[in-house]
Amino acid sequence: MHVKIPFISRIGAEEEEAWIEALNKELSSCTVVSYSKSRSEEFSLSEVALVANPNPQDLRALPKLRWVQSLWSGVEALIETARSQDFALVRMKDPQLAQTMSEAALTWTLYLHRSIPKYRQQQNKKLWIKRKLKQPSECTVGVLGMGALGHAAAERLRANGFKVVGWSRTERESNGIRCVCGDSGLLEVFSMANIVVILLPLTQHTLRIINKPLLTKANPGISIINLARGQVIDEEALLAALDDGLVDHAVLDVFDNEPLEQSHPYWKHPGVTVLPHVSAPTNKSTAAKIAALNIDRYFSEGAVPTEVDSQLGY
Ligand code: NDP
Repeated sequence: MHVKIPFISRIGAEEEEAWIEALNKELSSCTVVSYSKSRSEEFSLSEVALVANPNPQDLRALPKLRWVQSLWSGVEALIETARSQDFALVRMKDPQLAQTMSEAALTWTLYLHRSIPKYRQQQNKKLWIKRKLKQPSECTVGVLGMGALGHAAAERLRANGFKVVGWSRTERESNGIRCVCGDSGLLEVFSMANIVVILLPLTQHTLRIINKPLLTKANPGISIINLARGQVIDEEALLAALDDGLVDHAVLDVFDNEPLEQSHPYWKHPGVTVLPHVSAPTNKSTAAKIAALNIDRYFSEGAVPTEVDSQLGY
């Protein structure tokens, strides 16, 4: 019997159709079909599901689920369901995504290093003022999270001449990039960095980790680039630190609520650059190849790909 894999999403019919087409082009062992367009009884024996921002309730309707392939890299919204339903949660790990994210980290670091927000403000006032140009080697960039994305970003920043220091949960040697860990390591990064790039997963430990006590001890005039999840930052603390001049500028790609509410003070704050979650969208063709390989391997060898640690939350 030919196996059907449910595609469970809340990404819109057209986008879902495009994903299903891309996945079926790569798969040899089975066929992906839309969960919402099928009868749920068809999946009563399904061991595998593909998801893109699913309603966790839909996964509960699949009693035989062994593992779930997420097409996104961040899976914090599914951790609880995976734990309670006892299936393996596999997140998207795509070298193309890491490259795209490292490009974003470099873009926004150069944007800050080259004082573009300040020149924009000068232009608004028709001011012709040249600012002193520093070399990248005079600028220390802290990268919070040295995983697939953070490591690629750190490498790219270093290759462009920036001094880079990484922060991770466990001690690690990162191809010659200095990497610190723990609370003291975080404090060290914030006390020495000119720019901090956030590429941490959202977990119970990273929730609001960028908060008032930390910002108060930070290198005065530090800038922050958040490419991970909005909830990593305490918004009120960041706004206060921007107003007090403790933080010079924040480039924010992610927010507590997306889209960012019209009334949110970030929109008009001169110290904030708002981006609509665009740093590193999943690339359909490369991601479909990776997901299909994982699924084909499962049906030929029975191997479940490396899963997210549900205790750690990433
Ligand atoms: P990984 O799981 O590969 O890496 C996570 C890193 O964070 C690891 O280095 C880990 O440390 C570190 N970390 C986790 N918890 C802590 C902690 N409590 N203290 C210090 N360090 C910690 O994740 P990725 O690099 O693939 O992705 C990171 C996040 O980026 C995703 O979870 C997602 O939220 C976000 N993302 C955002 C996108 C966007 O468009 N804005 C697109 C894609 C992803 P250790 O090495 O010790 O385990």
